[in-house]
Amino acid sequence: MTSIPHVTLNNGAEIPQLGFGVWQVPDAEAAPAVRTAIEAGYRSIDTAAIYENEAGTGKAIAEAGVARDELFITTKLWNSGTRDWSGVQGRDAVRKAFDTSLDLLGLEYLDLYLIHWPRPMHGSFLNIWQAFEELLADGRVKSVGVSNFGTVQLEALLKESSVVPVLNQVELHPHFPQHELRAFHAEHGIATEAWSPLGQGKGLLTEPALVKVAAKHGRTVAQVVLRWHLQSGVVAIPKSVTPSRIRENLDVAGFELDAEDMAAIAAVETGERLGPDPQGFDWN
Ligand code: NAD
Repeated sequence: MTSIPHVTLNNGAEIPQLGFGVWQVPDAEAAPAVRTAIEAGYRSIDTAAIYENEAGTGKAIAEAGVARDELFITTKLWNSGTRDWSGVQGRDAVRKAFDTSLDLLGLEYLDLYLIHWPRPMHGSFLNIWQAFEELLADGRVKSVGVSNFGTVQLEALLKESSVVPVLNQVELHPHFPQHELRAFHAEHGIATEAWSPLGQGKGLLTEPALVKVAAKHGRTVAQVVLRWHLQSGVVAIPKSVTPSRIRENLDVAGFELDAEDMAAIAAVETGERLGPDPQGFDWN
């Protein structure tokens, strides 16, 4: 089985640097996909309440035959626009959402709970973070973090709370490498986790410069991109429902990109996102 490096988080917990993402995987398909992933050697699984596949994901975890403490399970709080997330009421709503996720996953504790989007226009993420601090104190979640936060929201959290998010999960791939945010994370002990690490399997995987690097190493472009994430110190959570690709995406330990390869990959940066800009994103 391939050995995947771990990243030590700011609270001492360790997260495998490669995990398995299940966005857009229907609940019924999540169980076989996650089962295949765990069999292949993935130990970190990334889901979210809004993916509506926590039950299928949990089923695979229960049937995997892998000790719970060898797995790293992440889910995310969805911010429904119909709820009031301020004050005590908001904190109760967070607790309810957390309980529902834990029930659907069939788990007694979670390794990581994330605020899915900051929705800065609502000014509620600080209150939500207070609820996350309470969950952490309860011991039913080992680590808390955020997703899609920008430096302005991170600065607000750092100012208001003594609990520093262990990581920020953001869109990140060679087209959109997030230099500024990564530097901010490094300065504050926050790990960087990449969503859509393969650029959603779109144009990125046919970039001629990447095809060339892949040919040089006798690897696929997806493997080269994931290797780039690992060598950049980023945690990546690629998604696939195809068993051969699930295995391929984990098999990235046996080669190394040199400085020339890293420069060729850096040169494909376009600065273009695939997903929405989190600063204005208010979907619910
Ligand atoms: P991804 O970059 O992981 O790309 C997945 C797609 O790439 C697959 O659907 C498939 O079409 C293709 N693919 C996968 N492996 C391949 C291979 N070996 N060869 C060729 N094509 C391959 O995109 P993603 O699913 O958007 O992101 C990964 C995970 O990140 C999600 O599943 C989810 O867990 C998380 N995510 C989080 C957020 C957030 O807001 N926090 C947003 C999007 C995704």
